[in-house]
Amino acid sequence: MQFVETRGNDGQKPKSVTFSEAILSPSASFGGLYVPESLPNLNEEFLTKHLSSHYKTLALDFLQQFDIDIETEVLEEALKRYDAFDDPSNPVPLTQIEEDCFVSELYHGQTRAFKDMALQPFGYILSKLAQKRGENYLIMAATSGDTGPATLETFKNQDNVKVACLYPDGGTSDVQKLQMVTEDAENLKVIGVKGNFDDTQHALKDLLASEDFKSELEERGIKLTAANSVNFGRIIFQIIYHIHSYLEMVRNKTIAMGDKIYLVVPSGNFGNALGAYYAKKAGLPIHKILIASNINNILTDWITTGSYDLTDRTLILTESPAMDILKSSNIERVMYDKFGGERTKELMDALTSEGKYQLSSEELASLQEDFTATFSDDEEGEAVIAAYAQKGYIMDPHTATCMKAYETLREEKLPTVIYSTAEWTKFSSTVSKALGHTVKDDIEALKWVTENANVSVPPMINGLFSKPIVHTVVVDKKSIKGEMLNFL
Ligand SMILES: *Cc1c(COP(=O)(O)O)cnc(C)c1O
Repeated sequence: MQFVETRGNDGQKPKSVTFSEAILSPSASFGGLYVPESLPNLNEEFLTKHLSSHYKTLALDFLQQFDIDIETEVLEEALKRYDAFDDPSNPVPLTQIEEDCFVSELYHGQTRAFKDMALQPFGYILSKLAQKRGENYLIMAATSGDTGPATLETFKNQDNVKVACLYPDGGTSDVQKLQMVTEDAENLKVIGVKGNFDDTQHALKDLLASEDFKSELEERGIKLTAANSVNFGRIIFQIIYHIHSYLEMVRNKTIAMGDKIYLVVPSGNFGNALGAYYAKKAGLPIHKILIASNINNILTDWITTGSYDLTDRTLILTESPAMDILKSSNIERVMYDKFGGERTKELMDALTSEGKYQLSSEELASLQEDFTATFSDDEEGEAVIAAYAQKGYIMDPHTATCMKAYETLREEKLPTVIYSTAEWTKFSSTVSKALGHTVKDDIEALKWVTENANVSVPPMINGLFSKPIVHTVVVDKKSIKGEMLNFL
């Protein structure tokens, strides 16, 4: 299987690359992304074969059908990372919350957010590839909360990869910050930046663009790569759990094999939703993918009107921070798939030069064959959290955005899977507030919710509060480079 570029080829990069190449150097010509030339066939035969498969068995077969240039033994080892999830026999459990609504819980890994689903196996594969090639890589991440911990966790003590993670000091939840600053390994560096997430992202961009930083890296023999969801090495693992959720619905007899369902995906960078789109395109019987957003509802506009317009927007901080995104990177892959490389380049160029673009009515109609969308604000989210707590189910604020989509967007009464992307323990202060009790910090919130909502806190969250803090550096933007060079 070869991978091609979403914005066409610039005559300098190869016209197509292998999976390994696409994940080691994920940026394609003209700032585009890599996409697979074709997809495996998820026909009924494939699905039926895996009706009683373990998650790892399904995943391995899927990855092999993809025909990527990674040896079976490496894939098997990578998938063993799921053995550290709460229930190794089923890393992604499905819970019923309404007669026709089920929650697929993607957060049962080490850092309690769905980022572990892809980053865990991806981290193993990337490090193996680097070792095999005798190369050294640096991954730099700016995080507003979930990507940082999951990236540090997957690469800790892995050879030939170093990770530097920048977070806005004061801009993450207490739990998220502790997950980063207590992560103790020689190949990890965590730097607090004075400022908000925007400042942190800008600082990272400036550093990555700086010529002398690049030559410093070159001198040290270090290559840069990325572990965010522009990397197809993450997307590939985000197709599998959609297949698994479908099979779970067949296994629990909600549907018969071949019946269609809805998926509801709380979205930011659209990696999770893209995985659902590829699964649908490959043949998984999905009627439609419902995209849930918070008040930063640019995806709602894109899907309902075809307009993607950054010019009249500023980012609003919400209680679902992992979805506080205006430039959603993975929709580019959907556009490539539907409209081709030339048109995708035209649209993305317009976004760069004018800050906006508008799809044609045919293009919009094509988008709406697969997607529909809505958004909810923090108040609506809190009301959802409170309502389901009453019924005995505690969800986090990202998951809560799914319920309005479930309630208002379905044209048919088909069974529905909504995705839960984080455990409530990562956002306990918001959950506590939604349940009517305002607290001063996450420790108090965890305690209060545990005592009042009949839920427990897993050991990896509880343990954070007594773990030694190993990363204490908090600096101005201009001191980041010095810190980085010291680390390297
Ligand atoms: C990353 C994240 C999202 C958004 O996922 P995308 O794939 O970027 O759309 C939603 N919820 C949580 C909790 C996340 O960590």
